[in-house]
Amino acid sequence: MPSSHARLLDRRALVTGGSRGIGRAVVERFAAEGATVAINYASHEKEARKALEAARAASRDAGHGEKPHLIARADLSDLQAVEAMLKAVVEALGRLDIVVNNAGIQQELPGDSPDPKGLEHVLGVNLVGAVHCSQLAIRHFLSREGGGVIINTSSVHQIIPKPGFLGYSLSKGGLANLTRTLALEFADRGIRVNAVAPGAILTDMNDSWRNDPKQRAAVERHIPMGRAGTPEEVATVFAFLASEDASYITGQTIFACGGLTLYGDFKQNWST
Ligand code: NAP
Repeated sequence: MPSSHARLLDRRALVTGGSRGIGRAVVERFAAEGATVAINYASHEKEARKALEAARAASRDAGHGEKPHLIARADLSDLQAVEAMLKAVVEALGRLDIVVNNAGIQQELPGDSPDPKGLEHVLGVNLVGAVHCSQLAIRHFLSREGGGVIINTSSVHQIIPKPGFLGYSLSKGGLANLTRTLALEFADRGIRVNAVAPGAILTDMNDSWRNDPKQRAAVERHIPMGRAGTPEEVATVFAFLASEDASYITGQTIFACGGLTLYGDFKQNWST
């Protein structure tokens, strides 16, 4: 990575769900840009340790030397665990400048099948955990000089309905309002809050189709760019929003989706 991309020198970041997929790519990108990163995970410690090694290598390879990256276990749906994690991370890193609310799960929840526990679980991880983490981070940002940055991992399903996945749709719609509400509340206190909304990205979350050529082609047919995205392509957007390059941007969602939100089915004239 060229040194002109070292935009996060001496920044300290927490990435929830940083052990795999998009979160892990964000961890590596932040490390390559000079940040020290706390990598949150819920249950797969082996993957978290691999992400830690990858972060250390990214720092070294980019010429930033040895950085005290760390892993931090906490289930985002357990608010006490989230609070304990934030406290431990701030103690370990000395301060926190950037929080990425990325941890997320996708579970089926048909619109005609009430499942309060399932709904509570998806909203607990994807939305309530992110709300709690954001509030604790903002309290920390306000307790010292320098402001801070929050970035939420939303989804194209922030605006495109996802039938059969009611909890997921609700959680991503909620993240849109979390982003805009906090951005407005703290815009004049040096705190920027934005979101990245990925489309179809090649991660474990999409194991149902990503390794099956036929199913993958069926998914990619809907994407105007004709292909799924990589976690690295999405991570660059997080790095931009976390950096001073985005110093005048708050309350926005950037869609990294290969054009999915352009409603490709309407490319050909259909109504006249
Ligand atoms: P992934 O590969 O399945 O990784 C999920 C990450 O979240 C893992 O690090 C996992 O840690 C962590 N996690 C899961 N449940 C957690 C919990 N209860 N508490 C804390 N961490 C938890 O997923 P991904 O595709 O990278 O997705 C990351 C984010 O991007 C999600 O918010 C997702 O909704 C969003 N997104 C993804 C896509 C896509 O196409 N992949 C598209 C749009 C939006 P463990 O390994 O320890 O469980």
